[in-house]
Amino acid sequence: MGLCAERLGATIVRFTMPRKSPWRLPLFLFAVSLLAPVRALARPQSNFTYGPLPVFELHSGFWINLHHTLYHEAKLRAASARPDKGARTSDPTLNTGPDAKPALTSSEQHIWDDAVAYYVSNYATKDLLFSTELIQLKDQLGDFEDCDELSGRKRRFCDAGLPAKLTQVLESAAPVYRAHLWPEHDRANRRWIMRVAPLVREQGVGLSERLADIYQARWPREKIRVDLTGYANWSGAYTTADPLRVTISSLDSRNQGAAALEVLFHEGSHGIAEPVQAAIIRECHQRDKAIPRDLWHALVFYTTGEVIRPVLGSSGATAGDQDGSVPGGGYTPYALREGLYQRGWSEYFKLLQKFWQPYLDGHASFDDAIARMVSSL
Ligand SMILES: [Zn+2]
Repeated sequence: MGLCAERLGATIVRFTMPRKSPWRLPLFLFAVSLLAPVRALARPQSNFTYGPLPVFELHSGFWINLHHTLYHEAKLRAASARPDKGARTSDPTLNTGPDAKPALTSSEQHIWDDAVAYYVSNYATKDLLFSTELIQLKDQLGDFEDCDELSGRKRRFCDAGLPAKLTQVLESAAPVYRAHLWPEHDRANRRWIMRVAPLVREQGVGLSERLADIYQARWPREKIRVDLTGYANWSGAYTTADPLRVTISSLDSRNQGAAALEVLFHEGSHGIAEPVQAAIIRECHQRDKAIPRDLWHALVFYTTGEVIRPVLGSSGATAGDQDGSVPGGGYTPYALREGLYQRGWSEYFKLLQKFWQPYLDGHASFDDAIARMVSSL
């Protein structure tokens, strides 16, 4: 989600090593080849996968949550260390949840600070959505969620093939995170999953078919893996390709209540909306026009909202949810509620209402709708 946050077709080749990567390709492939045994044999790591559900596979995994928390704190620390913000010596953000230990011991604080410092040095300037290195790391930590280690010291198949220093940082920070913040994150993740799951079960297949139909694409046959994390990126959720995976913050206020279903399908749509981008580019090419920045993304926001709106408005599933629901019924789509169209997309919004809505209503063809939008720009 998020204004201008995502890019369609961010072509990520899973096994392409980033420049200067310390990763070892054979080791990485070896680790990936052992994923099946990992699932079957590894010791439980208090992870949670709700299922079976259609369309999506919803996870609350330990390592991927630790990773995003360290990244989040590293970003905060890097920002606070900038001259205009004033330097800060310690990081106060590792707060405790209700059933966590009350405070960090000095040795825990030291370990945690070192881990955050490592993330500041190595990752804070990189983007979770666009850095191949961070995407591979995130995917790998998701794949190893059932392991209680990443080095393979105790079990060979738990060797995630990560850089040695990073493995050490994550394994050292793990007990601190597990004691102080993971219970709260895991609980929020599970709560989010449990609330959205009945709607996915009830509406998931129909929504995925409808969206695929609209985008003239096929919804992926494999269920889309979704990782719930305490923190995701700045926009609260993001999607990466090859493999198509979604990360959603369970704590982000924008993703709560009835909006959860829209966030899921908005992110999933990133995997199938490529024909829209292709058609926009084609029309611009024919008219010798500049390609409108993010029109495709505004279209995905609009479409998901309009497809979700009647489902949430009629299912009664929004009862008790304050976020995203309107008193007396009805559902306000994410982009309207969060004011996305007012931040530079107001022209797009008008075009979508005028030319795209008739297509959604069955009164225009896909090609005509795109052509009319582009020619009106
Ligand atoms: Zn998006």
